[in-house]
Amino acid sequence: MVFYRKYRPQKISELDSEPVRVSLANILSAKEPPHALLFTGPKGLGKTSAARIVAKIVNCSAKQNKPCNKCGQCVSITNGTNLDILEIDAASNRGIEEIRDLREKIKLAPSAARKKVYIIDEVHMLTPEAFNALLKTLEEPPSHAMFILCTTEVHKVPKTIASRCFHIVFKNATGQELERSLKRIISMEKINMDQEALAIIAKNADGSFRDGAKILEQAVLAVGRKKITGERILALLGSSKNGLEIFEALKEKNAGRALNWLNEAVAGGLNIKSWLEETLAVLHTVLLFKYDIKEGEVNDEVLQFTQEELKKLIMLFSKAHQELRLAVIAQLPVELAIIEYCMEEGVPA
Ligand SMILES: [Zn+2]
Repeated sequence: MVFYRKYRPQKISELDSEPVRVSLANILSAKEPPHALLFTGPKGLGKTSAARIVAKIVNCSAKQNKPCNKCGQCVSITNGTNLDILEIDAASNRGIEEIRDLREKIKLAPSAARKKVYIIDEVHMLTPEAFNALLKTLEEPPSHAMFILCTTEVHKVPKTIASRCFHIVFKNATGQELERSLKRIISMEKINMDQEALAIIAKNADGSFRDGAKILEQAVLAVGRKKITGERILALLGSSKNGLEIFEALKEKNAGRALNWLNEAVAGGLNIKSWLEETLAVLHTVLLFKYDIKEGEVNDEVLQFTQEELKKLIMLFSKAHQELRLAVIAQLPVELAIIEYCMEEGVPA
């Protein structure tokens, strides 16, 4: 995750999500910006980066509605050393005590900044008592205070809290937004890469800037100074020719071979989630083809499966996909799906 951290957006124009860029620019150009913001959306879309940018804008000595990234305030916020910008992880500070403590301290004027900014990450983790205490502060905030509440699970934030915040939704990144974000890293790192490779990474990043940066980083590590081509990225993602091996192994109900393929692919940087989604799409196309519905390219290897086998694979891999989010080891749900599929009909591995 070196690239993602190293190239965090530092100003609004570097935020790659267009709707977020536009709403933030609008609200921050107002005379008095809202005292509470709520940033919601999946992980890896830059909520924390955006929160830090807001903290800089309200405190930057240059007062230009954009961070100068040079003054003492901006620099200390970038470095995470600004005493008036408090980042709190609600996952580990979820109780009433922590929020009481916050309520006491927030009354004190900022030490050097214009505004004390509280960035509360994963805010949905707060206990109901802590939320109640926070609500009281949000109802009557000191004028020097600003809150930025971030969460991946907006439905767990009480309506009373959400209604007091200016809400900005971070949606999954589009292909264009992902390319924009990747291009910034590519040019700064002087990476030699073709457009096809860029497009493939964007497609496999699952709408997440963080995942995109991660794939790019893996590619650089795998390829070194050589040119990164689309083919190399596909090989890295495990969806090139050797991707067929998994279907052969499954057709043979050879669990050992299938697990071995998966293990090697993961070691080579395979993104399990993207791979599952791509595999399900391939199985789906072939299943429809079997019923004379011709949509997209049919994979010859997959055509060897019967309708019944395709149905079983789709069910098992869909289940694995659902279980991914909670999996302790990312590849485990797929491994279990492979084993379950191969065990059927008692064919030994
Ligand atoms: Zn500044």
